[in-house]
Amino acid sequence: MKVFNTLTHHIEELIPLEGRRIRLYTCGPTVYNYAHIGNFRAYVFEDLLRRALKHFGFEVTQVMNLTDVDDKTIAGAIKAGQSLDLYTRPYKDAFFADLKTLNIEPVEYYPAATDHIPEMIELIRMLLAKGNAYRSDDGSVYFSVSSFPAYGKLAHLDMAGLRPGARVTHDEYEKENVADFALWKAWDEKDGDVAWESPWGRGRPGWHIECSAMSTKYLGQSFDLHTGGVDNIFPHHEDEIAQSEAASGKPFVRYWMHCAHLVVDGRKMSKSLGNFHTLRDILEKGYSGREMRFVLIAGHYRQSLNFSFEALGAARNALQRLDEFQERLGALAGGSIPGDLPDWAETARQKFDAALVEDLNIAESLGALFDMVHAGNKAMDAGALGKVQAGAVRGLMARFNSVLGFLEKPQESAPDAAISLLEQRQAARLSKNWPEADRVRQELAGMGWVIQDTPQGPKLKKK
Ligand code: AMP
Ligand code: ZN
Repeated sequence: MKVFNTLTHHIEELIPLEGRRIRLYTCGPTVYNYAHIGNFRAYVFEDLLRRALKHFGFEVTQVMNLTDVDDKTIAGAIKAGQSLDLYTRPYKDAFFADLKTLNIEPVEYYPAATDHIPEMIELIRMLLAKGNAYRSDDGSVYFSVSSFPAYGKLAHLDMAGLRPGARVTHDEYEKENVADFALWKAWDEKDGDVAWESPWGRGRPGWHIECSAMSTKYLGQSFDLHTGGVDNIFPHHEDEIAQSEAASGKPFVRYWMHCAHLVVDGRKMSKSLGNFHTLRDILEKGYSGREMRFVLIAGHYRQSLNFSFEALGAARNALQRLDEFQERLGALAGGSIPGDLPDWAETARQKFDAALVEDLNIAESLGALFDMVHAGNKAMDAGALGKVQAGAVRGLMARFNSVLGFLEKPQESAPDAAISLLEQRQAARLSKNWPEADRVRQELAGMGWVIQDTPQGPKLKKK
């Protein structure tokens, strides 16, 4: 598989450091609020990457961290008058629920920053010992940018204008303000009760050291692939490289991939601009997670993607077309059947993979899929598709779905009211009150749900 490496600005063949295993670190959410669909563009891109890697026979060990202590989470907790843990918990839970709604595959590790303070302290201790960090008068510790000559290699910065000794305390800052950045921040009143003991006194970690510590713990000092949105390149990922390579003396990450932004009217979707939608907003407007996934996945990850409700409407139409095609195939074949593909499907299979393997050229892969649907419908119109071939095409659709994750219609789960009616019906049946059981069944039908008696007991299915 080939990928565009931000470090070299070249498309390169992805070669794992060990065997067929790709060790992948993806910067996760800062849990101070609900993630917005711009954030989910990054997570859906990373999900496509993970699924594509597996599709092409790699094994994947992936880490996605949760940033549950940083400038933003602390400010939020203090404003809400809550402990950091209490404040971030609902946003963590919401994040995992949203991942499910978008059919994003679970990754192997979800470490939270607050569970890894000792690892961060250890890393800072090493940087101090090696002379790459220094303590300031207030008990904070800073990384000395001038001690790391390769600083700027990811963001391709010209470091000539660097002012030695200048310091920046905030986690986020602009390229023009390159300066020594905080590894450990001494406690001050803005931190409320958020503080840990360290050899340098009470304080808390900077944001960047969190990802260096957690990636190393789960993936080793050198690993294959690191991703995020383009806004992560500087300073976050640049600082991660500096910290990790200065401490270990080894190359940190071989390939860096970054997705372009989800934009609204040409501007990055972001909390600070206020031009954002959460996934919840989208669902409340009547769109599905599946439609949102389609929109987020369909554009090439290195091109900015303009968000609009028209795009969600177009996704709905496209998905309907795919569903109808699959239903037609199902009517002919039932399930998937191993067998030779018709020519038009074999062509689609090859084109789909050939595009995907080239730096995730998803637009062309989807083009191949829709060409196949067109050709398949024509073949079925002409009565020229037999049961076995239809079954083979179904198998191919399942293969495509392992990458795309939106081809299968998700089963809608029944609302609480319907579930309680189902329980009432069970009780009525147990007491042999058949008229009542029948009445409840009809009430359920009126709500759009039918009861299916299965070996595991009765289940509700959408009519
Ligand atoms: P944050 O919670 O701000 O640390 O962001 C989490 C992830 O979302 C990071 O990988 C960001 O680069 C990414 N991100 C933030 N805003 C956008 C956007 N508008 N489009 C794409 N990715 C974004
Ligand atoms: Zn990170």
